Amino acid sequence: MAVRAEAIEREPIAADLPSHVDIVIVGSGFAGLAAAIALATEGREFVVLEKASDLGGTWRDNSYPGCECDVPSHLYSFSFAPNPDWTQAFSPREEIYDYLKRTARDAGILPRIRFDAEVRSARWDAGEQRWQLETARGPLSANILISGTGGLSEPAIPNIPGLESFAGTTFHSATWRHDHDLTGKRVAVIGTGASAIQFVPHVQSAAAHMTLFQRTAPWVLPRRDRSISRLERWIYRHIPGAQRVARSAIYWSRETWIVGFAMKPDIMRFVEKQALRFLHKQVPDPVLRKKLRPHYRLGCKRVLMSNTYYPALTQPNVHVETDPIVEVLPEAIVTADAEGNRVEHPVDTIIFGTGFHVTDPPVAERVWGRDGRTLREHWSSTSMSALHGIAIAGFPNLFFLVGPNTGLGHTSIVLMIEAQVRYLVDGLRQMKRHGVGEIEPRLDVQDLYNARLQKDLQKTVWNAGGCASWYLDERGRNTTLWPTFTFMFRKELHRFDPANYEARPPHHERSHASQLRGVNA
Ligand SMILES: Cc1cc2nc3c(=O)[nH]c(=O)nc-3n(C[C@H](O)[C@H](O)[C@H](O)COP(=O)(O)OP(=O)(O)OC[C@H]3O[C@@H](n4cnc5c(N)ncnc54)[C@H](O)[C@@H]3O)c2cc1C
Repeated sequence: MAVRAEAIEREPIAADLPSHVDIVIVGSGFAGLAAAIALATEGREFVVLEKASDLGGTWRDNSYPGCECDVPSHLYSFSFAPNPDWTQAFSPREEIYDYLKRTARDAGILPRIRFDAEVRSARWDAGEQRWQLETARGPLSANILISGTGGLSEPAIPNIPGLESFAGTTFHSATWRHDHDLTGKRVAVIGTGASAIQFVPHVQSAAAHMTLFQRTAPWVLPRRDRSISRLERWIYRHIPGAQRVARSAIYWSRETWIVGFAMKPDIMRFVEKQALRFLHKQVPDPVLRKKLRPHYRLGCKRVLMSNTYYPALTQPNVHVETDPIVEVLPEAIVTADAEGNRVEHPVDTIIFGTGFHVTDPPVAERVWGRDGRTLREHWSSTSMSALHGIAIAGFPNLFFLVGPNTGLGHTSIVLMIEAQVRYLVDGLRQMKRHGVGEIEPRLDVQDLYNARLQKDLQKTVWNAGGCASWYLDERGRNTTLWPTFTFMFRKELHRFDPANYEARPPHHERSHASQLRGVNA
């Protein structure tokens, strides 16, 4: 049975922030919640700061029609909070959103979350050996700062000349305007990524006309979704281990994708054949089919799965435009072909399915490290990088969840989040046990780690597949994806590795030697 979105009990909005707390977690999506639940279990003192007035991150914000996960829910969920009640193999957004709220409530962490508390800046105070934060609800300091601000959290809107002059309605898929009725409208959809493919069929059926502006055709495979029967759900609820077996089966079948993505991208040619057969079957018109045929190795951009996307594009009220957009006028979008011939497409509404700020996360401008420079400044001379995607030299006591090179092209990010949280909890335990005041990774270790990652990424389909994607930054470096199996990541983060860190004693104990085993003070 689908669970309805529940109203969330929360602390009164006027509740003050403490002036100091041991640990601050920023964000209340999958990552922030996983950290909060683990720290609550450890009995640690912490507060979660969330800029919105509800928890859920991605699954709170993305309410567009058709929004659902693209990794099966039995795997795209916490290992410690299995949900026997998923109704679909790939759950709709409402179920995931409810799941997150329920999990937070059951773990008793709602009173620890401060909503409407956007973190505007965080500065390392070397004198006090703590983070000084400015938030929308006032200042506070913390010994440890954990960022769970999300990789796909800040909508990216392209900088198109004239956009500000547009007289109609514009919005991004992550800030869907449910008050804007598309019925009878001429709608422009810009973008053909993972979100667009889900909402395009809904827009097509509501709008009078839809123009899809496509820069690059995505590879699309059949979506093998199915309802989960009552009997199955009963089994998951009542037979111990049944759901764990289902989760394991999905886990291992997804891990095999790495062979094609990262080890032998040429194998993807066989999958391309299947995708092309699917395209041929669903799109009879050869002219349209030609526009929709991708020209890069499958997997280079996120592989999309939909049974309704292509059929929607074959409808008479749809035009797929492949010439680039050059300008927006008050009532039209203008494209130009290779010869510079301009075409005006009259539209009333523009919907951006243009993704997120991934390789330039806004949080990087809000965090100032030991030398008084922001993360953005640190990364400006190289690229986004960290040790294990979690800790950064020059930024003591800062832990990033879903940081650089922890994204995945093949399976559930929750696996990476849980591995990072385990590692982090172990690190905090060790710090406490040894009375350490601050730690940060050794730069030489961090650099070696990233050199190895970049080398491993060279041969992957994401780097060598012949496409431009949001996995790569402006230098062409892949700073987003983990290059191999997720069990390798888990193995590497099995234990916090103090030898890779510099540790300093608390200021008031500076005369004592550093306490972490194997570490130079
Ligand atoms: C439509 C969509 C579908 C997806 N489907 C899948 C899928 O099937 N499988 C998969 O593995 N991944 C999927 N993803 C990726 C998804 O983002 C992650 O799986 C996961 O939800 C990320 O969790 P998170 O906690 O790291 O970030 P988020 O869920 O983005 O949460 C970040 C939180 O931090 C808050 N925040 C940000 N900045 C601040 C600040 N300065 N101060 C205070 N709070 C702040 C935000 O408000 C938000 O609540 C999908 C993403 C999208 C957009």
